[in-house]
Amino acid sequence: MMHDYTDDTEALADEIVRFARWRTRLDPIPLGRARTDEELTQLVGPTVTPAGIGGHRALELFRDVLAPSCLSVDYTKYLSFVPAAPTEAAILFDLVVGAFSIYGGSWIEGSGAAHAENEALRWLLDLAGLDDSAGGVFVPGGTVGNLSALVGARGAAEARLAAEGRGRPDRWAFVTSKTAHSSVPSAARVMDADVIAVDVDDRRRLTGPVVAEALDAHGDRIAGVVATAGTTNLGVIDDLRAIGEVCHERDVFFHVDAAYGGAALAAPAARELFDGIELADSIIIDPHKWLFAPFDCCALLWRDPDQARAVHAQHADYLAFLDAYGDWNPSDFAIHLTRRSRGLPFWFSLATYGTDAYADAVQVTLDLAVEAGRRIEAAEHLNLVWPPELSIVVFERVGWEADQYQTWSEKMLEDGSAFVVPSRHDGKPVFRFCFVNPRTTIAEIDQIIDALV
Ligand SMILES: *Cc1c(COP(=O)(O)O)cnc(C)c1O
Repeated sequence: MMHDYTDDTEALADEIVRFARWRTRLDPIPLGRARTDEELTQLVGPTVTPAGIGGHRALELFRDVLAPSCLSVDYTKYLSFVPAAPTEAAILFDLVVGAFSIYGGSWIEGSGAAHAENEALRWLLDLAGLDDSAGGVFVPGGTVGNLSALVGARGAAEARLAAEGRGRPDRWAFVTSKTAHSSVPSAARVMDADVIAVDVDDRRRLTGPVVAEALDAHGDRIAGVVATAGTTNLGVIDDLRAIGEVCHERDVFFHVDAAYGGAALAAPAARELFDGIELADSIIIDPHKWLFAPFDCCALLWRDPDQARAVHAQHADYLAFLDAYGDWNPSDFAIHLTRRSRGLPFWFSLATYGTDAYADAVQVTLDLAVEAGRRIEAAEHLNLVWPPELSIVVFERVGWEADQYQTWSEKMLEDGSAFVVPSRHDGKPVFRFCFVNPRTTIAEIDQIIDALV
């Protein structure tokens, strides 16, 4: 019964597709707001019951209560954290991916999907300047991407020490900056490794000399170096070329966390900011952030996929069959086995609109950040703290304490008029705009600036 396609299923299919279409075309998109669990329990009632409540009723509850109790990350004045703005084609194709029951982990089970995902990955690899022998895989997010990359780095370090007839250190360590994303220390904790977080320069960039110094001081303990191409708080890009050269000289694995910023590789005018990224042994870029893909989608790119496979591939009697078919099992390149072909909505969108449209859309958000910076500079009640290097602008509300920042943000959220939350810079509260949505207008930025008077 549950697996029969009946007239009821047909009616439900119509309803669901109509509903998804309505949301995709919705304009303007409302912000939504959080409710307490008590409120939700009261509004929704029991839903998981022995007899079921029926798809129609469940969809109604989702439409009327559950969905409006979630924030829309694609709301045009959602400028906190790193928002998202999936394209129409990507959203619609996400529905299709679910319908097809593809096992995206192995070539024999998902060759067509893997081929398409690899096309999308190839575009990113080309933008980064990695050659034909490079490859990658889509993982759920930057956190899993960074962890998989660091595990790969440790594997490479282990192999190098073994080849030289030396044993592994008592404790591994990674060199990165104090401004690296929280997922980097988190990955190190998972691996029971240390993070050597070195200072950044006055432009808040990790530079070659401090990395060289840390490598010299810690020797064989170092499993790899992590640079950031677009820090989450400020959008700063580390000195990738100098760091990459230091790593190459010492044969140390070089990982670039470009989860947020890597999207700007698509904009020709911004490409030079990433000079040296082509020296990376691994890179992550989240298409679910600034490349207009739905959650969850992070591209993990490897210079040497064979080395990544040696570290990550799972082996078992019940998996041996897969090894005989093709040499590209996506599962082999990160920490996962079963996987959704989560790169497909991104691929479909790239195929639909073309890469020029991506270059244009990213440029629109870069320009928006520059213009927002100008408006902030011109506003007497605001103080521009960090002009945009990518699409992040950081500023102070002159005269406000931390609790005033917090109260204002909560009020704006409650009113549904913007989602702009405070962050901190040099110990002081600041506001931060992060632009990834080409639909955001400068008039909307003016509204927010006016609401801060
Ligand atoms: C967002 C972000 C991450 C984590 O990515 P998730 O997809 O949220 O797991 C890692 N690094 C940087 C620089 C980021 O901005």
